[in-house]
Amino acid sequence: MREFGYQRVLDVSGAVALLDADPDARFLGGGTNLVDLMKTGVERPARLVDVRELPLDRIESTRDGGLRIGATVTNSDLAAHPEVRRRYPALTQAVLAGASGQLRNMATVGGNLLQRTRCGYFTDVTKPCNKRVPGSGCPAIEGEHHNHAILGASEHCVATHPSDMGVALTAFDAVVSYETADGPGELPLAAFYLPVGDTPHLETALPPGALITGVTLPPAPTAANSRYRKVRERASYAFAIGSIAAALDVEDGLVRDVRLAFGAVASRPWRAREAERALAGGPATADAFAAAANAELAAARPLPHNAYKVTLMRNLVVAVLTELAEEASR
Ligand SMILES: Cc1cc2nc3c(=O)[nH]c(=O)nc-3n(C[C@H](O)[C@H](O)[C@H](O)COP(=O)(O)OP(=O)(O)OC[C@H]3O[C@@H](n4cnc5c(N)ncnc54)[C@H](O)[C@@H]3O)c2cc1C
Ligand code: SF4
Repeated sequence: MREFGYQRVLDVSGAVALLDADPDARFLGGGTNLVDLMKTGVERPARLVDVRELPLDRIESTRDGGLRIGATVTNSDLAAHPEVRRRYPALTQAVLAGASGQLRNMATVGGNLLQRTRCGYFTDVTKPCNKRVPGSGCPAIEGEHHNHAILGASEHCVATHPSDMGVALTAFDAVVSYETADGPGELPLAAFYLPVGDTPHLETALPPGALITGVTLPPAPTAANSRYRKVRERASYAFAIGSIAAALDVEDGLVRDVRLAFGAVASRPWRAREAERALAGGPATADAFAAAANAELAAARPLPHNAYKVTLMRNLVVAVLTELAEEASR
């Protein structure tokens, strides 16, 4: 591991100034992803700027009835917060579906959004990988891609984003706030992750050196009837091979509002807009849910070893929306 400096910061402007002055520095949240990547040589920062003592560890209601979640709130505190559990239950379920209790106690909201892909070629510095070394190639396309992307990928990279939390935040239209040396900014999650294209090494639209300060969830009454379902190869302590965050409001058998996002199928949490459009105002039936899933998955371009994800995601949409429809009409 390369030798590195370490500095703890107590105020946001000090944190941002340190990264502005040193492009080789990185923010350190819980360190549960960054430190692993430093051990394998994927990340080689000259200095870590520890943000965990910043005053960004609160969850507060906003005036319009949404929630503002600080960037250093731990995954455990986020999942346990009574307002998150009551107003956005799929978010609690998504966070609790990830990692382990110990990891969730350390991992932060900002770090979770910026965690890197688990593609085995990315984490192995002896292998080529366009995301790690631009222009070196993508061995996953001809090689091991069992858990890679079926939506929104390119011939340059087919990796998936591993976050569970991000899938629920995407379904609920979360907005990321950040701070740079030039001042504050905001990015809706829909614009936060960049399309893969021919630049898979560029993952987010955050300006260089930006500190994530928090995430705001707009008010969403439908989110109270929501669910996160994760499919994985082991019952615990495993990343998703497919997941869904869904919220549904039904009146007189018709869909009044629906939110859908998919995980582990694309380079970013995938908002299923086509499916949402297909469902809006229509019948809340299993056939309609399957048709909506097909509308979304028409864009899927699976590789030889991950075509199972198309069926998996269709089944998840039908199963979870059917459960939510039953609960909504009780
Ligand atoms: C064994 C294991 C299993 C796991 N299983 C799952 C799982 O099933 N589902 C899941 O979703 N996740 C899983 N994870 C990943 C885990 O959720 C992430 O490692 C964690 O959320 C990252 O948060 P962190 O605070 O530790 O980030 P760090 O490791 O500290 O940082 C990650 C990245 O974010 C940057 N960063 C951190 N905070 C900020 C900030 N405020 N502003 C700007 N940049 C920042 C860092 O510079 C770094 O680039 C697993 C991890 C492990 C080790
Ligand atoms: S899928 Fe992406 S991360 Fe994996 S080897 Fe290809 S370029 Fe690298």
